[in-house]
Amino acid sequence: MATNTADVAIVGAGILGVAHAYALARRGRSVVVFERSPQAAGASIRNFGMIWPIGQPAGRMHAMALRSRDLWVEVLTAARLPHFPTGSLHVVYRADEAAVAREFCEVAPTLGYACEWLNTAGVLARTQAVQPAGLLGAIWSPTEITVDPRVALAQLPGYLTERFGVQFRFGVAVKSIDLPIVEAGGEKWQVDSAIVCTGHDFETLYPEMFRASGVTRSKLQMMRTHPQPDGWQLGPALAAGLTLRFYESFQVCRTLPALQQRIAAETPEYDRWGIHVLVSQTAGRELTIGDSHEYGAAIDPFDRAEIDDLILRYARGFLQAPALEIAQHWHGVYAKHPDKPFLRFSPAPNVHVVTATGGAGMTLSFGVAEDTVKEMGF
Ligand SMILES: Cc1cc2nc3c(=O)[nH]c(=O)nc-3n(C[C@H](O)[C@H](O)[C@H](O)COP(=O)(O)OP(=O)(O)OC[C@H]3O[C@@H](n4cnc5c(N)ncnc54)[C@H](O)[C@@H]3O)c2cc1C
Repeated sequence: MATNTADVAIVGAGILGVAHAYALARRGRSVVVFERSPQAAGASIRNFGMIWPIGQPAGRMHAMALRSRDLWVEVLTAARLPHFPTGSLHVVYRADEAAVAREFCEVAPTLGYACEWLNTAGVLARTQAVQPAGLLGAIWSPTEITVDPRVALAQLPGYLTERFGVQFRFGVAVKSIDLPIVEAGGEKWQVDSAIVCTGHDFETLYPEMFRASGVTRSKLQMMRTHPQPDGWQLGPALAAGLTLRFYESFQVCRTLPALQQRIAAETPEYDRWGIHVLVSQTAGRELTIGDSHEYGAAIDPFDRAEIDDLILRYARGFLQAPALEIAQHWHGVYAKHPDKPFLRFSPAPNVHVVTATGGAGMTLSFGVAEDTVKEMGF
């Protein structure tokens, strides 16, 4: 068997694998990426494409999200791929939601967020996509961007190959790493280092380390509408009251517990299925709507109509769009750790395992990758 060579082997062509390939290739390293599926098929093509700094807690993670967003814009601009500097709105319809949103807008600028409170007229001046009846206002944040995950993950490998000579081996699973040799799919590669970005696959490579790390899985149900008519734009990506209890950034608000208690008492089904509702728009003008969170190592292969109904019922409470019929239902899975936004460990010399474990891997990907390659000394 002939031996190929590269500086670094990456396992997994989801966004973590692609972001690490980009970080290394920009620094002049030769890279080979192994992906067991014919194309990326994991969480990275199943998400909203929301690059969402406002969801990250103040400090290091928020700063990493902003840096990651800038790198996203850099690579997508260079690759001529679609991305939309939409910003985001968290729209509120209840007094307890407005209290949290207003409190966050008061404290957020001192913590480094760029958001502001908008009253009803201010919201309606920014979007045609929200229900005006009962609307009290919103948190407006200019820092979020929307990418099209299916387009980005399908096209970025070709760009990295053309621009930097990164080699992608699709349909090739890596079952073991014994540096300097990586054998995969009948090929033998000699490399200096390996980076394992295998998402929520904890069973194939370094299973005992994953088992010891405290990770589990989160299953999310998602939907997509038919394309909206030409000329109609979602504008800012949308979130609403349920989301205020979901992201860690809002936990600085003293008014949050009252909102959490009201939701738990009034609509326990949203807590039971971990539902909060987000809406983004794709390059093809469809709306992506989700999601729910079911935690545990075993993923139910079958989706629950009840969950999709709850998501859509809540979405219709704040979203108005010309075409809300659902064209696609699917679920995605991400690796979940109770308190770490990402895991990085070294199971053997010059081998690094990197997994996003807080549900924000799209947002953090390029920032985490930049950190990894700095730690590797590049
Ligand atoms: C429904 C949903 C919505 C989300 N929305 C957002 C969002 O809007 N914004 C955000 O920031 N985050 C979001 N997330 C989280 C984000 O999508 C994930 O954190 C991120 O995509 C994880 O990327 P990854 O590369 O680690 O994993 P994956 O995308 O799962 O990629 C791992 C890849 O490794 C391959 N692989 C595994 N084992 C091997 C092996 N042994 N050999 C070769 N290949 C292998 C797999 O086939 C897969 O393609 C969402 C997640 C889900 C599920």
